[in-house]
Amino acid sequence: MIRRKHFLAVGATAIAATTAFAWTLIAADKPKLGYTDTPSYPGSKWRVHDGERPQPKIVEPGTCSTQEQPGKPPRDAIVLFDGKDLSRWRGEGDRPAGWLVEGGAAATPGHGKPGSGTILTRDEFGDCQLHVEFATPNPPTGRDQGRGNSGIMFFNRYEIQVLDSYENLTYPDGHAAAIYGQYPPLVNASLPPGKWQTYDIVFTAPRFKSDGSLESPAYVTMLHNGVLVHNHTAILGAVAFRALGKYEPHGPKGPIALQDHGNPVKYRNIWVREIKGYDQP
Ligand code: MG
Repeated sequence: MIRRKHFLAVGATAIAATTAFAWTLIAADKPKLGYTDTPSYPGSKWRVHDGERPQPKIVEPGTCSTQEQPGKPPRDAIVLFDGKDLSRWRGEGDRPAGWLVEGGAAATPGHGKPGSGTILTRDEFGDCQLHVEFATPNPPTGRDQGRGNSGIMFFNRYEIQVLDSYENLTYPDGHAAAIYGQYPPLVNASLPPGKWQTYDIVFTAPRFKSDGSLESPAYVTMLHNGVLVHNHTAILGAVAFRALGKYEPHGPKGPIALQDHGNPVKYRNIWVREIKGYDQP
């Protein structure tokens, strides 16, 4: 009996020693990072160069698109349309999304056809990074606002214009990449009709106080075909035609819509990433 106890004690001691040794190895493997004698940021628990601050989450980046092939979204993106189906979309009034999906792209069917109309994401989004690719009709038809018109509508109310703005004059705040009716793009980076074009949009949702008044406006930063067209621009209110946009209070998230303006614009490779704050998992 004494011998058995002795063996148990020796065994337990050996296990504890091995565990301690393993932890020592793990601790030794963890590099000592940063500094502990630096000032803290105002209002933050973290110091300057704080090695204990959470490491940024690793995200496998995507790949760029070519005219022939859409790129791959970043690993953590929510893919809204991958060229196959519109299951993440619905029509207005909860009708099915009636756009034609063909050859890896979805096309606005134009007014007057069955199932046509604006389509909206089934999920809702607030602050987000949105990637959209579109191609306006080739050969082009129409002119001014009647040529390749569609739009990206955050909250189904703040519109980034889609238009064939290649050698097509229109009022400047109605060009492709305009915040429609408010700000023209900083430059016109449009490609010819039929070419795939990209919008990369960073959208900050507006905030409202409990009494419904505006606390902070929506902001847009945006690249059109890789060229900056809006730089943290404050949106003036919901999209309006021949009027000034106004804010109406709404919740923190809403659908993203693709506008049907009666021209058969094609879309492909649409993805979104929700924007979180710093130090978030
Ligand atoms: Mg439009």
